[in-house]
Amino acid sequence: MPYADKQSELSARKWRRIRAYVLAQTTACGICGKPANAVDGPLNSVDHIVPISRGGALYDLENLRGCHLRCNQSRGADARPPKVDRIITSRNW
Ligand SMILES: [Zn+2]
Repeated sequence: MPYADKQSELSARKWRRIRAYVLAQTTACGICGKPANAVDGPLNSVDHIVPISRGGALYDLENLRGCHLRCNQSRGADARPPKVDRIITSRNW
């Protein structure tokens, strides 16, 4: 799917604004529930509750939550789009 550079630049700006807003409201990690602390680090990451790859809304505040970067990264591993592990082609036996 092609997209214009101008559009992605606007999106980046919009995302920075929304991200700052979400983080300003965040007092505890949306994933592990703990506040910012020395072990888990600051709450400086924003997680999409429903991953974009699964149709989650990119800029919907209801789909966003602040969290630890560490928590987001470990969750990110699970939020990858499902890979197609088999492509069934017609086959003559
Ligand atoms: Zn966390």
